[in-house]
Amino acid sequence: MSRPYVIDQMISAKSIAARIESLARDIHAAFDDTDKLVVVGLLRGSFVFIADLVRELDLPVEVDFIEASSYGDGMESSREVRILKDLRGTIEGRDVLIVEDIVDTGHTLSHVTDYLRSRHPARLKTIALLDKPARREVDFRADWTGFEIPDAFVVGYGIDFAQRNRNLPYIGQVRFTDDA
Ligand code: 5GP
Repeated sequence: MSRPYVIDQMISAKSIAARIESLARDIHAAFDDTDKLVVVGLLRGSFVFIADLVRELDLPVEVDFIEASSYGDGMESSREVRILKDLRGTIEGRDVLIVEDIVDTGHTLSHVTDYLRSRHPARLKTIALLDKPARREVDFRADWTGFEIPDAFVVGYGIDFAQRNRNLPYIGQVRFTDDA
């Protein structure tokens, strides 16, 4: 049975857009000499972020996706990370940027980064739109982070709660209204 909830806006669409412009400048500076950057989105939560980010990147890019197991339909992260869908292309000797929605405990991005690093890319960097440092269980820092947020369950801008709310243009915090 699902509990009733409301969504309180935490980060506006305008703030996200402004932050992405600035992140894109930093990424451009790090990869300005690249032949082509392989931008790897972690499905499914990063799909809106990657779409906006690549359109701000004035570099030759290729887009690929990888899917790792995560929350399922619940609100708790699983510590065991499995690759559910792998890249289509090869990354050996290439420049790679992994794009994630949220670094929470850190297990997912740290696992995926190790997994892709074992394929010997030339350069490998990571970016996450949101970072919850208070929740970290493994020592992992993305190279770039959009916003640091507190320990709250968030939705919107591609991020779901039981497959809902991905289409909100902003990031919002889920607040249950039944006081359970
Ligand atoms: P990890 O705990 O491994 O760092 O993060 C696992 C995954 O949990 C992330 O990729 C992200 O999709 C999801 N996640 C973390 N925090 C939240 C949250 O507040 N809301 C939602 N919907 N997913 C989250």
